[in-house]
Amino acid sequence: MSLSDPSCLVPDEASEFIRQNFRTTIRGSAVVIACVACVYAVALWRVGDPHWWHHGLIALLAVALQPWFGRQASYPGFIGALLLLISTCTVSIGALALTYGPAALFHALLLAYTPVLVTSGRLPPWAKVLLVAGACLLTLWLDAASAARWAQRAATEPQQLPTPEILQRLRDINLLALGLAPAVLVYHFFTLVSRQHSTMVRLALHDPMTQLFNRRHVQATGEALVARLLDRPQGGPFSVVLLDVDHFKRVNDTWGHEIGDQALRHVADLISRTARASDVVARWGGEEFLLLLADTDEAQAVQLAERLRSAIADDALGAHGEPVRLTVTIGVAQSLRAGSFADVIRRADAALYEGKRQGRNRVVAASVTGTEAVPADLAGI
Ligand code: GH3
Ligand code: MG
Ligand code: MG
Repeated sequence: MSLSDPSCLVPDEASEFIRQNFRTTIRGSAVVIACVACVYAVALWRVGDPHWWHHGLIALLAVALQPWFGRQASYPGFIGALLLLISTCTVSIGALALTYGPAALFHALLLAYTPVLVTSGRLPPWAKVLLVAGACLLTLWLDAASAARWAQRAATEPQQLPTPEILQRLRDINLLALGLAPAVLVYHFFTLVSRQHSTMVRLALHDPMTQLFNRRHVQATGEALVARLLDRPQGGPFSVVLLDVDHFKRVNDTWGHEIGDQALRHVADLISRTARASDVVARWGGEEFLLLLADTDEAQAVQLAERLRSAIADDALGAHGEPVRLTVTIGVAQSLRAGSFADVIRRADAALYEGKRQGRNRVVAASVTGTEAVPADLAGI
C-alpha cells in the first residue's frame, strides 16, 4: 500500500464507522421488534389466541439482548445475540403465518429483514445478495405454505378458523409494521448521512489548528463574489485584507513551536472577535490570515484592518509568565470592475509586501502603494 493512500494512515476507519453503525441499527431494530411484539401480544390476547404470551417473551428477549448489541460487546457475542433474535422472530412469524393464513400478511414481515441486512459492515456484497434472496424466497415459500395450510383447515375444521374481522385487524397491524420499519431505518440513515456530510464539509473547509476557514473556502467564496460583481456591475465592491504576523520565525526560535502555535491561535481569536459577523475569516497559510469583506470598499476595509492591527499589538500572549508581543502587517485591496479574484489577492499581497518593506506593524492599501499593476481600464469601483 502506498503512503499517498489515505486509508494507509487511517486504516479501516470508514468500515469501522459502518460496523458501529450496523450495531446501532440492530439495537434500534431490537427496540422496534420489542414494541411490535408487545402489540402482537395484546392483539393476539384480544382475539383469544392462547399463544399471545410468546410475543411477550420475544419483547423481553429483544430488550434483554441490548447489551450484546452495544458498541463494547465482542463480535461473537453480537452475532450470537443477533442470530438468536432473528431465529426466534422467524419461527414466530412462520407459526403465525401458518395459523392465520396468507391474508393476514404475517409472512410479509420477513421482508423487513432485507433493508437491515444490506447495512451490515462486515458482510461481503455477495453474502448480502444471498441473504436478501433467502429472505425473499422464504417469504414466497411461507406465502404458498400458509395458503395450502389454510385451504386444508378450511376443509377439515372450518369453524375453528379466525373470523374475517380478526384477519383484517391482524393484517392492518402487519401493514403498519411493514410501513413503519423501513421508515425508521431510512430516517436513521438519513440523519446519519446528513451528520457525516456536515462533518466532512466542516473538515474540508476549516483549518484544524485555528478552526478558521481555510484557503479552499476563501477561494470558492472569492470567486463567487467576483461572479456576483459581473452579474450585478452596479453592486458594491468587496475587499480583501491580507495579514502576516511580523518576524514570526523569531517567536518560534525564542519560545518554541508550541508557543508559536498558541500565538497563531491567539491571533486567529483576536481577528475573529474584531471582524464583523458577515466577514469571512480564514487562515491563508502559515502565519498569514485573510479576511474577505463583502460589500466593503477599500476605505472601510482599511479601518477594519487598522482595528485588527492595534487589537493584536495591544494584546500580548502570556507564555511562561512573560508577554509575547506580536505585531502584524496588513495589505488591503478592493475588487475591480473587471479582473479575477487572483488579481485582488495579488494586489493585497503587493500592498502587504510594501508594508513589510516600510518597516512592518502597519496597514497599507493597494491603491496608495503604487505597486498595483492595474491596467488603466480597470478602474476601481
Ligand atoms: P516577516 O515579518 O517577514 O513575515 O518574517 P517571518 O519570520 O514572519 O516570516 P518567515 O516567512 O521568514 O517565517 C514564517 C515562519 O512561520 C516560519 C514558519 O516556521 C512559521 N510557521 C508557519 N506555520 C506555522 C505553524 O503552523 N506553527 C508554527 N509554530 N509556526 C509556523
Ligand atoms: Mg509569511
Ligand atoms: Mg511573517
